[in-house]
Amino acid sequence: MSTIPVGILGATGMVGQQFIALLANHPWFRVEWIGASERSQGKTYREACAWRLPAPLPDRVATMKVEATAPGLAPKLMFSGLDSSVATDIEAAFARAGHTVVSNARNYRMHATVPLLIPEINADHLGLLPAQRRALGWEGAIVTNPNCAVVVLAMALAPLRQFGLDLATITTMQAISGAGYPGVPSWDILANVIPHIGGGEEEKVEKEGPKILGALQGGAVIDHPCRISATTTRVPVHNGHTGSIAVSLKQKPPLEAVVDAWQSFRGRPQALGLPTSPPQPVVHLPEVNRPQPALDAARDGGMTVTVGRLRECPVLGYKFVALGHNTIRGAAGAAILNAELMREEGLL
Ligand code: NAP
Repeated sequence: MSTIPVGILGATGMVGQQFIALLANHPWFRVEWIGASERSQGKTYREACAWRLPAPLPDRVATMKVEATAPGLAPKLMFSGLDSSVATDIEAAFARAGHTVVSNARNYRMHATVPLLIPEINADHLGLLPAQRRALGWEGAIVTNPNCAVVVLAMALAPLRQFGLDLATITTMQAISGAGYPGVPSWDILANVIPHIGGGEEEKVEKEGPKILGALQGGAVIDHPCRISATTTRVPVHNGHTGSIAVSLKQKPPLEAVVDAWQSFRGRPQALGLPTSPPQPVVHLPEVNRPQPALDAARDGGMTVTVGRLRECPVLGYKFVALGHNTIRGAAGAAILNAELMREEGLL
């Protein structure tokens, strides 16, 4: 099978680096183009990027030249790890020029005709793309993945919709890699907890969840009726966002049924056998001291969400802890899974 050339917008950032690491041996996609800011343009990738991953920087990419983030000779399929301050115009320029942009940035996530995809949950939301082309007049398209904390919450909640999911509260403990590089000053984060994350993090968690869990009806997404309340914090962890979650379920299932719902949850990526899909997207661990970022964030290549500590909550009914790898399942791995789904659906 011949491989599909891809480009990466924002290739030098934390998410961009994960793209490069995850695509190094990808069976379908091959990195042929990388772009970043003026600071990096014209340099080799090795010169431009402060590589921060334990995986080695692939030699082929290390010697590639960083391009300006304008369409031209870039491949048709583009992944984006662009800073949100610049993603609106750059991603639109690529989509207008006929590229398919599979983006991590928040800028288009809540647009009514842009799919906000987690393929296990809402693969059918790709059905928004004809409406997107009509509404925005683009030859190409933009498809997004959720905020990194939202992925953890949505994956834990999706299997619980069958029980009448009503209310959810979440307090996150988010890793420093979620703030990009160089991110939070060491003086602020070492031996500390910062009780606020900027950029509208809490609003994203509260608004993106209902869209992801919603239903596609008549060419539009109808939000799931659940209400979500979020507090987001930054903690001195390298990778892995943890959430302490409480939910109200109208049908009041026994705890065992909740565990069964998580353990048996599968979606379109598993049915299709997509290369980046984890065999079991939500894994429940019964040990009282799990999940932990250091032990569980990298499960199945960082694509699994791990849940544990399920118990009764005297206020909402059920409470538990969920964890996911923020730059893989919450960013680059999520976008790659989205592109794999699009290829299998004949949308590339
Ligand atoms: P980051 O480390 O700060 O990287 C930002 C990237 O954007 C860099 O490649 C940077 O290039 C590029 N960029 C900045 N200004 C630019 C400009 N004017 N023109 C072209 N490129 C420009 O951030 P990150 O953590 O990788 O996050 C990237 C995006 O993904 C953000 O939108 C973020 O919200 C989202 N996201 C991040 C995570 C996470 O866990 N980190 C998870 C989900 C979503 P230079 O290196 O040349 O400056």
